[in-house]
Amino acid sequence: MKVKSPLEVYKYLPQTNCGECGYDTCMSFAAQIIDRNVKPTDCPPLMENASKDKKFEKKLNELIALTSPEIAEVVIGSGESAVKIGGEDVLHRHELTFFNPPAFFFDVHDNMDEALIDERCSRVVEYRKFYVGDFITLEGISVRCVSNDPEKFRKVAKKVAEYGKPVVLISLNPDCMRAALEEIADQRPLIYAATEKNWREFLELALEFRVPVTIRSRDLDTLKSIAKTFRENGVSEIVLDPVTEPVGKGLKNTFERVIQLRRTAILGEDKEIAYPIMVTPISAWLIEGDDITRGYWETVIASTFVTKYADIMIFRNLEQYTVMPSVVLRYNIYTDPRTPVQVEPGLREINSPSPDDPVFITTNFALTYYTVESDLSSSNIKCWLLVLDTEGLGVEVSVAGGQFTAAKVKDLIQETGIEQKVNHKFLVIPGLAARLQGAIEDETGWTVLVGPMDSGRIKGWLEQQWPPKSGE
Ligand code: SF4
Repeated sequence: MKVKSPLEVYKYLPQTNCGECGYDTCMSFAAQIIDRNVKPTDCPPLMENASKDKKFEKKLNELIALTSPEIAEVVIGSGESAVKIGGEDVLHRHELTFFNPPAFFFDVHDNMDEALIDERCSRVVEYRKFYVGDFITLEGISVRCVSNDPEKFRKVAKKVAEYGKPVVLISLNPDCMRAALEEIADQRPLIYAATEKNWREFLELALEFRVPVTIRSRDLDTLKSIAKTFRENGVSEIVLDPVTEPVGKGLKNTFERVIQLRRTAILGEDKEIAYPIMVTPISAWLIEGDDITRGYWETVIASTFVTKYADIMIFRNLEQYTVMPSVVLRYNIYTDPRTPVQVEPGLREINSPSPDDPVFITTNFALTYYTVESDLSSSNIKCWLLVLDTEGLGVEVSVAGGQFTAAKVKDLIQETGIEQKVNHKFLVIPGLAARLQGAIEDETGWTVLVGPMDSGRIKGWLEQQWPPKSGE
């Protein structure tokens, strides 16, 4: 996005504050454009003016160009399960934020046993991992044509599409691709791949069926040249595959090509390659070794390119030892650094506590909170958990930074009414907040017990320390 402040956007808007966009003022709407919550086309008067007057149309196009992300956004799939890839504006997360996490697709092929296809598709659809208050899911399924038989590929594409997830169709044979597209084009699959040899046929397919297309080449000039031709002919939803080399056979070169593509697209003036990038961890299966070794290398490739700069990935291994590290890393890289991941402060009741049960306190940093909450719940510990508003910071940082203070603990005790819910005045603070023990006792009048450093040890700690001995 070329513009950085709402004021720069405001001057392109009608400035009537009519509210038709759902915001009270044009300035609020401009701020939402900067935050990428709305687009210029969401202002009805702007659209109406542009449809009647060439001067306004030019102004609208200028604004769209100024507010579009540096990397084009591509949508794969249709309806609620559709996934957006690309759309990034910066090279490093801390410069702003990353917007669209890389989409993970899992491989089936048309020579695969039907039952196995069903099993793999179901595993993709059903995958849910609870992490820091969210459910992480997998985005889609890629269907590879290995039979080179258009009818077989058509049948398997149709079967996979019935699972309702976005699909990547993989075949270099235009006849096979056409057969599959005739069946599922309305679900907007990504087609893979146009190359130096078949790009004319793939251009026709992308135009005829209005689907996004991947261009594949190790040579960046070739990628750029084909992408330019596609764009000039009316295809703008493009994904670039600079070819992921197998481990030990050029992965370093792949990394350099990916970095060069993204740096040129964001920092350079060359927008002919400003498209999402595909990386294929599945290439790890071209190396020698057993399934665990190759699954391990899939994870290594995925981890490398989640960090820099894959927008879509194709995997083979659906085992947790490959999937879990990849999805967790992706989640962490793609959280918005402008907004700490936090939960509502307040009081939680864990496992239906009684007035005799202990009172713990933790911070509202989501990762800390869910770790503590899950350790307490899964250990069947009945207790009360106070969640302090530390502005989304963890225990150690918030104690050092002044967000975890005795005065705030006192306020929290009063606001939650915990004193009326228990028949004691013992508060267990995290081991990492031990230095606040005296201050909290002075401020609140409660007796403070210093808990373990790690919430996973609370169960053992309670066996030794709870109920507190009289006089403690
Ligand atoms: Fe301003 Fe357009 Fe929103 Fe009306 S609809 S308030 S003109 S931005």
